[in-house]
Amino acid sequence: SDHDLTYPEIPAAMNWGDHYPAYVATVPAAVPKDDPIATEDRNEYGVPRMTKQVEVADIGCGFGGLLFALAPKMPETLILGLEIRTSVTEFVQEKAKALRVQHSSDAAETVPGGYQNVSCIRANTMKFLPNFFEKAQLSKIFLCFPDPHFKARKHKARIVSTTLNSEYAFVMRPGGKVYTITDVEDLHMWMVEHFEAHPSFGRVEGDELEDDEAVKVMTTETEEGKKVERNGGKKFVAVFKRLEDPPWP
Ligand code: SAM
Repeated sequence: SDHDLTYPEIPAAMNWGDHYPAYVATVPAAVPKDDPIATEDRNEYGVPRMTKQVEVADIGCGFGGLLFALAPKMPETLILGLEIRTSVTEFVQEKAKALRVQHSSDAAETVPGGYQNVSCIRANTMKFLPNFFEKAQLSKIFLCFPDPHFKARKHKARIVSTTLNSEYAFVMRPGGKVYTITDVEDLHMWMVEHFEAHPSFGRVEGDELEDDEAVKVMTTETEEGKKVERNGGKKFVAVFKRLEDPPWP
């Protein structure tokens, strides 16, 4: 159940400082003492101000294979996994911390961004997505190998639906993309049908799809994707772009 899930009332109340300590805003020394920001490095909800916001979300991230592959490729971008299982969330959080130490700036082997830009929260994304993200905050959402919920009476548990697609549309900026991959053809068709039917999304195809580095990483780097690879299974990929909202009449 969700009784023990914690989530902020609104995104501004979320403490991202614990997740991305390298991106906590520090008050510049040169700011005069009477400037409000000189004494106020926390916002009105008492959480640290950040120099960056999360832009990429991996929904149902599992053990974080995609997160840790993306992090050095997008070193300037804050990447977040959302996962409902407590122990799996903790595993990803601990791995991020370990990688930060292992690749700190004075370590022998450094990587761009030093894994400071990746973290994970425990969340039921079917319920609380707009509690974590502002309107138009995200540029990429990944839905990788979501649970298929095969039976028709379980379809309402799928993380793609008309209602949830409206939530994804809300938190995404125009031009942002939703990336989907699954080995279940029926689920692939379900996701395509629901995104294509949604007025806020259009399918990405052709060169734009072929040339997208994120598609390549998504296809090879998730734990589930590797399992499918080992078993010689098929992977179905579909990408959708968040369209501009139509002008008010
Ligand atoms: N994306 C990973 C991959 O490709 O390796 C994991 C795929 S696994 C089949 C699906 C994951 O989604 C599980 O880790 C599960 O706990 C998580 N999950 C399912 N429902 C969720 C929800 N409502 N909110 C957040 N995570 C969820």
